[in-house]
Amino acid sequence: MAVAADKGSKFGSGEGRITVTKPLLARALLPRFVSTGDRLQVGVEVQNLTDEGGQALVTAKASGVALKGKRKKKVALGAGATARVRFPVEVGLSRKASFTYTVEMNGHSDGVKVTIPVGRPLTVEKLTLAQGRAEGPVEVPVDWPDDLLEQESRLEVSVDRTGMAELGPGLKYLIEYPYGCLEQTLSRFVPLTKVEDLARSLKLGELRGPKLKQFIRSGVAKVIRHQHEDGHYSLWPGGTTYPHLTVYATYGLNEAKRAGVKVDALALDRGARAIRSWATGKDRVVDSGGQAGTMAMAAYVLAELDQPAVTKDNHRITLSANLDMAEEVTVALKYGAEAVGLFRTEFLFMGRRPPSEGFQRNCYKKILKQVGDRPVTIRTLDCGGDKRHPFLRAEPETNPALGLRSIRLSLRTRPIFMTQLRALLRASVDGRLRILFPMISCRQELREAQEALEEAKAQLEQRGQPYNSKVKVGMMIEVPSAAFMSDTFAQQVDFFSIGTNDLIQYTLAVDRQNEQVAYLYNPLHLSILRLLSQVIGNAHREGIPVAMCGEMAGDPLYLNVVMGLGLDEISMNLSALPYARHLVRASKQKEAQKLAREVLAMDDSESIGKKVRGYMAEKFPDFFTPEGPAEILGGL
Ligand code: PEP
Ligand code: MG
Repeated sequence: MAVAADKGSKFGSGEGRITVTKPLLARALLPRFVSTGDRLQVGVEVQNLTDEGGQALVTAKASGVALKGKRKKKVALGAGATARVRFPVEVGLSRKASFTYTVEMNGHSDGVKVTIPVGRPLTVEKLTLAQGRAEGPVEVPVDWPDDLLEQESRLEVSVDRTGMAELGPGLKYLIEYPYGCLEQTLSRFVPLTKVEDLARSLKLGELRGPKLKQFIRSGVAKVIRHQHEDGHYSLWPGGTTYPHLTVYATYGLNEAKRAGVKVDALALDRGARAIRSWATGKDRVVDSGGQAGTMAMAAYVLAELDQPAVTKDNHRITLSANLDMAEEVTVALKYGAEAVGLFRTEFLFMGRRPPSEGFQRNCYKKILKQVGDRPVTIRTLDCGGDKRHPFLRAEPETNPALGLRSIRLSLRTRPIFMTQLRALLRASVDGRLRILFPMISCRQELREAQEALEEAKAQLEQRGQPYNSKVKVGMMIEVPSAAFMSDTFAQQVDFFSIGTNDLIQYTLAVDRQNEQVAYLYNPLHLSILRLLSQVIGNAHREGIPVAMCGEMAGDPLYLNVVMGLGLDEISMNLSALPYARHLVRASKQKEAQKLAREVLAMDDSESIGKKVRGYMAEKFPDFFTPEGPAEILGGL
C-alpha cells in the first residue's frame, strides 16, 4: 500500500506519507468524489522503475461499486515507463466505495487499496497556522454556511497554541498594514479572517475594534477583485481561475460577513454557485471518469514534498518560497522549500517608527538559523507606490508606481536604509544570506546601493562587529530598462531575481492592481517572454544564476515555459510549492526547452496562450484542460 492517497478521507493532509522505492509502483487514479448511481472510470497508474520492460497484469477488485467489464487487464510497460489502466464502474448504494488494484510484472508486484466516501465531497482541509512543540493543536472548527454545498463538507482551521507567542508580532504587522498584492492577500485570506480568534487566544486586546474591521474590509475588497464572472477566482485579476482559490476565497468572504463586515452579496452568491456546480460536477471541465482526481492528486503531490525537484531527464531546479514574515518559515520548510527566494521586509516596517538595527538583525538571524544551510534572499525595503508606511510621510504622487518608491525611497531615506544594511550584514554570519536590491532601473541606483552597502561594512568594521565579506548581492529585474541592460548589470551583481509582477506591469503599461485593465495583464505576452529569455541568457553568459519570484513563477500553468527558458530557481507563494514540485518531477527539461523555443518563435500572444495550455493539458491531463480552468485543488 503505497501512497498518501491510501489515507482515504485524509486526502490532502500530506501527513503519514510513505516514501516509495519499489521497482513496480501502483498508484490509484480517483474521481474527486462519487455519488450513488455514478458511472465512471477508475483506475491505476503503474510505473515500472526497473531497467527491464514487460507486460504488467493489473487486477481490480471493488466494493460499494460494481465493476462493469473485465477485472484483469494487461498493459505493455517499457523500462522506466508509466501507464494508466482504467476500469468502468457503477457506484452502488453503499456509503463507501473501495478499489483494490494489484499489479504484477517480471516477478515484481505492488498493490493499492483506496476507500472514498460515497456522496460526500472530500473537502476537509486542515490549516495549521503555527507549528509548535508541546500540547498539541487547538482545533478551531469552521462551519460552512448551511446551504453552501448540497453535500456534506467541512473546512477545518486548526491553530496550534504552542507557536502562538511568535505569531503575535506578525499579526500586528498584518493588521496595522494590510499590504498585499492581490495574490498575497488571497493566499492569506483564510487565516486572516480567523484573526479575531487568534487575537483573543494571543491576548492581543488592542487588535479588536475598528482597526480589525478596517483590516478585514480591505482584505475583502482585494479578494473580490480576483473574482471572475463565472464566480471562480484567479491569483491576479483576469488570470487563470482555480477552484481551490474559489473555495478559500468564498469561505473567507463568508467568515468576514459573519464578523460583521459588509460583503458584496453578488460576489458571495457567484462564488457559492461556482463551488456548488464545481462540487456537484455539473460544470466539470474534465469528465468524471477518474481523470480529474483532484483530491487524490493533492495527496500524491503532498507525498512528494521530500523528493528533490528534478525533472525526469535529471535537470535540477531550485524551488523556493516567497515569505513576508519570519513565522512563515516553518510552513515553507514543511512544504518542501529548498531556499527562501524572496523575503519581503515591508512587514517589519509597519510600526510608527522604523525597526531598530537590533530588532531587524534578530529577525533576519531567526530566519537564517531556521533555514539552516539553505540560501535566504532578503530584499531591502520595497515600499512606496501602493505600499505606504506610517513613518514615511511621502508627498502625494500622480503616478505612485512610477514615483518615489522602492530603492529610490531607500536611497532618499538613507539612515533607515543604512540601518537595514547593517542589520543584514550582521545577520550574514548566521547563514547563507543573499541581499537583494529591488526595482533597480539604472546603473546609478545600483552603484549608490552598493556604495551604501560598502559604507555599512566599514561602519561594522569600525565597531568591531563581524559580517560575511563574501555575502552575495543581487538585484531585482522588474523594470524594463534593467531587463534591457541585463548584459551589463550581470557583470555587477552576484545574481538576478526577476519580479514579474512589476516587470509585466511596467512592460505592458498595465497597473497590476486595476481590474479595468486586468485583461491586458498577460504573463505570456510575447514581449515578456522575450525579455525573460534575454535576461536569463545575459545572466548565464556572465555566469550568474537567475531566479523568478513574481507570481508568474507560482502559477502551474506557466511552469514548463519558465523552466524551458532556463531559470535556475523559481520562488513562489507557499501554497504553490507542492504542485510545482510535482509538476517539475513529472516534466522533462528537454521538452520544456522545446516549448519555450516554440512560443518564442510565435508572433501573437493569443496563440501562445493556446499553445501553452494545450501543451500542459497534453502532458498533465490530471491538472489541466485545453480550455477553461485547471483542475487543481489542495494547497494550504
Ligand atoms: C514582483 O514585482 O514581481 C515582486 C516579486 O515584487 P513585489 O510583488 O513585492 O512588488
Ligand atoms: Mg516588485
